[in-house]
Amino acid sequence: MRFIPLILLFVVTSCAVSRNPLRQEVRLLERGLVKDDSSYIYDLPFEKGKAYYCVQGYFSMFTHRERAALDFKMRQGSSICAAREGVVIRVKEDGTRGGMRSRYRKDGNNIVIEHPDGSRAGYWHLQTDGALVNVGDTVKKGQPIALSGNTGMTSFPHLHFIVWDYDRSRKWQQVPTRFETTRGIGYLTAIRKYRKPGKEKKK
Ligand SMILES: [Zn+2]
Repeated sequence: MRFIPLILLFVVTSCAVSRNPLRQEVRLLERGLVKDDSSYIYDLPFEKGKAYYCVQGYFSMFTHRERAALDFKMRQGSSICAAREGVVIRVKEDGTRGGMRSRYRKDGNNIVIEHPDGSRAGYWHLQTDGALVNVGDTVKKGQPIALSGNTGMTSFPHLHFIVWDYDRSRKWQQVPTRFETTRGIGYLTAIRKYRKPGKEKKK
C-alpha cells in the first residue's frame, strides 16, 4: 500500500511538537484521564457500519500540528454524514483542484454546519459538485450531506473534520470532540480505524 510509507514520511518530517496549550488538554482527554467530561457526543461523519482510518488526529503530526482536527482516509465519492444536527451555513462545491500546494487551499470544497449551541462543524476536501445540501437547510444527525473528495490542499482523498466554538474571550477556538464508535465513546487518535455503530445500508 502506498499509504503506509507516506505516513512514515509524515512522522519523520514532523518531530516538532505543537505548543498550543489545548494540546496538553487533548492528550488527557484521549487517554480517558478526564473523568467529568460531559461534552456532546458526536456521530462519526460517515455511514452506519462503515469504518475508516483516522490518519491525522488532534495536534498530531504533519498538517495538524496546530489543529484540533481529524482526517479520515476515504475513497472519493464516499458518503459524508452530519456528525451533529444543525443548519447549513456554508457550502462550497465548485473547487476542482487538489494537491499539496498552498495555492490549492482555496479550492477545497467544504460544508459548515452550525449546531444548536452555536458551535460549528466543518467538512473539508469534498468532491466537485458533491454537496447534497444547501445553505439554510436544517440537517439531522447522521443525514448524508456530501460526497468525499480530494479538493484543496490535500495529498490523498480524505475528509478533514473540525469543530469550532467560542471560547471565554468570544474568539473562535477549535475544539476536540467525543465520538460514539464501536469501541465506545471517546476521543479519536491517529492511525486507528473507527467504525460507526449500526447496520450498513444495502445499496
Ligand atoms: Zn486535515
